[in-house]
Amino acid sequence: MRRHLVLPAACFLTIFGLVACAAPPPLPADVGQLMTKLNAAVSGRDQSTFLTLTNGETSAGIRTWVWSNLSLLSQVTFKTGETDSLWANWQLPGDDQAISSQVGSLSCADSGCLVTDLAPQSGAAAPIWLVQPLQVLGDDQAVVLASTTAASSDTQGWVSAAKAAQQAVAAADLGDLAASWNGNLVVELPQDASAFAQLLGISSSADYASTGAVTSVEESADSSREPVAHIIVNPQTTATLTPDDQTLLLTHEAVHVATSGVPVAAGATWVSEGLAESVAVEGSPSTAASEQTLAKTACNGGLTPPSDAAFGGTDAASQNTAYAVAQTLVGLIRSHLGGDAMTAVSALWQGQTPSNVDLPAWSQVWCNS
Ligand SMILES: [Zn+2]
Repeated sequence: MRRHLVLPAACFLTIFGLVACAAPPPLPADVGQLMTKLNAAVSGRDQSTFLTLTNGETSAGIRTWVWSNLSLLSQVTFKTGETDSLWANWQLPGDDQAISSQVGSLSCADSGCLVTDLAPQSGAAAPIWLVQPLQVLGDDQAVVLASTTAASSDTQGWVSAAKAAQQAVAAADLGDLAASWNGNLVVELPQDASAFAQLLGISSSADYASTGAVTSVEESADSSREPVAHIIVNPQTTATLTPDDQTLLLTHEAVHVATSGVPVAAGATWVSEGLAESVAVEGSPSTAASEQTLAKTACNGGLTPPSDAAFGGTDAASQNTAYAVAQTLVGLIRSHLGGDAMTAVSALWQGQTPSNVDLPAWSQVWCNS
């Protein structure tokens, strides 16, 4: 009598007699093998192996949506860092370069090696795919990353604003300052204050109570290439913005994205903020007018460029004045120098003193007008 072949319940014989599945493979013997298997699982869209290799207790609850998020990335490669840390080189649609981020930790025991934590790390800026379940909206030139739970009535306004901002900045003459920009915008919409803080790698977002959005500049994974800049919208301060306000905010930040390849010299924050605001208010005459009124209140025989510190802190009123004065000063350079303006702005940006700029005289005339 033939004996029946006994197989584990989850396995079966094909008609060719081949075993179609087998007992779970043992865990990799070292971290090198772990990385090889993890990367093969991600690129091969093998979720069960991914879940086996990331079976840590710390982050067990988020692995399923992290897995879904990974499929939205243009590329992702895991690698090991010091002291059993887990890193990822990852790239979003819209970006030309990958960012390298610390995303977890590893551990090895007699049974093998696995990822014991795959989650935002304290003190490190977290990738948005580790922070919330993602949906990708917009197009490659204006990519918007929102939570899957965000209402489309909320996200569509940001998508429209991102497209308008991308077009406004692409059409603006930013000269050599924008030479390394690929022309795309990536806008991240964190779902709450906690997600916003995790994206910035800070423990609390309390210092951002008067900040609508920040442009986060991350070093490229290939350090010889230009950095990667994303706009991160602050959900605490932007819930009630009008569509025009959203466009104004994202256009300002988009100038920072476009010019992120050129470091701002100490003392020249007013040039960077003034240029961003100057481009942004071109699309908002009412804001331009109200900032003119505000800048006039700072006139004292002319306008003095605000200090770097004037743009920080949480005093919204003095910050607003600093932005208005900086916008007016950069506007004076643009109106006086025309086609030569960006060469002068770029020089000021880098701490030089262009001989064809006379802000004391120009601002004195403006204050008296
Ligand atoms: Zn700014």
